[in-house]
Amino acid sequence: MNFDFSGKRALVTGAGAGIGRATALKLAELGAQVIALSRTKAHLDSLKQENPSIETICVDLVEWSTTREAIKKVTPIHLLVNNAGICLQAPFLEATPEQFDLIFNVNLKSIMNVSQIVAADLLERNLKGNIVNVSSQASHRGVANLFLYAASKSAVDSFTKTMALELSPKGIRVNAVNPTVVMTEMGIRVWSDKEKREKLLARIPQG
Ligand code: NAP
Repeated sequence: MNFDFSGKRALVTGAGAGIGRATALKLAELGAQVIALSRTKAHLDSLKQENPSIETICVDLVEWSTTREAIKKVTPIHLLVNNAGICLQAPFLEATPEQFDLIFNVNLKSIMNVSQIVAADLLERNLKGNIVNVSSQASHRGVANLFLYAASKSAVDSFTKTMALELSPKGIRVNAVNPTVVMTEMGIRVWSDKEKREKLLARIPQG
């Protein structure tokens, strides 16, 4: 399949590392003008070094107003990949309110924040667009110690359905992708236990 994103502006959140970084590089390779948003400046600097055509925004998505202002400066965005995410591992009995707030702020609330700006701008300009929310296989299954993470990703799936319902008639397609084990920094932290990893992979017919 050939993709050509020439003339399209793509914003990828959490583009400093892992899946987001790979997505940003691939979209740039396929012709998109990529804007990479991440939290750690050094990661963005090395991404820019790898592909100088990529624009970068260094912002912590937990900061609601700073994020909004930063996104407004880079519109229009035809393709938004809401990829940034964190995974705090805690058993149900030990999970704290602070962990709850942080994980839901980064994994969920930031999607509302960034997507509101991007979608409202597209509608104002009468442009079509695409939003992809990066969820997780953990949204569908109970996974020990991922109580908060899995719940945040179930909520991402739910967001996606309602966003799609409201925005697609207006020309903005919204989808979620639910990756499984990917050996990024996060993946190594969460999936180093072979038994745990293989239980999840076994649910995929092709492994
Ligand atoms: P990763 O290697 O840990 O990378 C996460 C990226 O998100 C980093 O670039 C990080 O920024 C950015 N980020 C985190 N908190 C942020 C914040 N507050 N503000 C701005 N940026 C922030 O993770 P990954 O494995 O690539 O995961 C990417 C997405 O895939 C996540 O949503 C994750 O839940 C999902 N996922 C991953 C797996 C897996 O096995 N790896 C499986 C299913 C789903 P900096 O680099 O700038 O610090």
